[in-house]
Amino acid sequence: MSTRHVIIIGSGPAGLTSAIYTARANLSPLIIEGEPSSTSDQPGGQLMLTTEVENFPGFPEGIQGPELMFNFRAQAERFGAEFITAKVTAVDFSERPFRVSVGSDEYFADSIIVSTGAQSLMLGLDSEARLLGHGLSTCATCDGFFFRGHDIAVVGGGDSALEEATFLTKFASTVTLIHRRDTLRASKIMQERAFDNPKMAFVWDSQVTDLVGEHKLEGAVVQNLKTGETTTLAVTGLFVAIGHSPNTNLFTGILDMDDAGYLVTRPGSSYTNIDGVFACGDVQDHTYRQAITAAGSGCMAAIDCERWLEANPLSSPPTAAHAGNDTSIAVVGTSSV
Ligand code: NAP
Repeated sequence: MSTRHVIIIGSGPAGLTSAIYTARANLSPLIIEGEPSSTSDQPGGQLMLTTEVENFPGFPEGIQGPELMFNFRAQAERFGAEFITAKVTAVDFSERPFRVSVGSDEYFADSIIVSTGAQSLMLGLDSEARLLGHGLSTCATCDGFFFRGHDIAVVGGGDSALEEATFLTKFASTVTLIHRRDTLRASKIMQERAFDNPKMAFVWDSQVTDLVGEHKLEGAVVQNLKTGETTTLAVTGLFVAIGHSPNTNLFTGILDMDDAGYLVTRPGSSYTNIDGVFACGDVQDHTYRQAITAAGSGCMAAIDCERWLEANPLSSPPTAAHAGNDTSIAVVGTSSV
């Protein structure tokens, strides 16, 4: 059994920043980055489902989300970080070395950084499973192209909904925003952009109660929450953008969580309730949830981890050479972004 200094679970801005920092600290990180087919464990995290990122410092002209994440990953690889493109199926943090399972494969590490992020919330309708990928989507970037010239709708009133709706007007003939209140939660600049966009329409105080169409979306049943009146909006595309839930099922009963399921870290640090297990990014942040704050917390986790390992050594100390010379771990796939 060979033991890593650190395994990083998740590969969004937080995980990949912690990978860059731990790799440069000669900790030979192994990143288990998730599976491309999975909605909750998307390698590269939520920015892989984003278009233009205008607020990540260092890119005055903006950058596409996937390109930004590709750059993060390339930077980590440059310092010897290794990747497994797979989904973690179980963890055992009851003793050191900590155990991380990917199916029947087991990996061991002196320390763990959890950066599993968060995933899109859905409306909870039976028809969603039937029509997801057939007119129903949670990703404007991925699917917007398919809706050229269509009449479509977006559900939600936050920044995600407004951002997606505005982006979708590049393709669709009309984009109707359906929001359950009459006030948007989104930032003022996003609201202004949407209100100024001639292709946008708004349905207030309303929720989608059903989807029409057997094999392809043909409409959305919309109920006005104030009047109770129900109408069917003839749309061939519906994008759900109502927020996210943290990917923490793996850690139930193991790591402390708040009521919403976000991991709890000690204030001002990335320490979880288990010594040697650190958390960063959206999995522990329901306040800021920005790529830059996730990246910052990934840096914190790497520094916390490095200092903690120094004070609590278990396996052989880090080699003087660069990370990446531990060949005892099989690396399965490296190019998913
Ligand atoms: P959010 O801010 O939590 O907004 C979720 C929206 O969906 C709210 O308007 C909410 O309605 C609505 N909603 C929630 N559950 C619903 C349901 N079951 N049915 C119908 N509507 C429902 O989530 P978000 O927009 O994904 O944003 C998350 C965070 O990321 C925010 O901090 C946001 O600022 C940030 N973000 C920033 C950018 C950017 O700056 N470029 C882009 C995207 C996201 P209520 O308003 O009534 O609660």
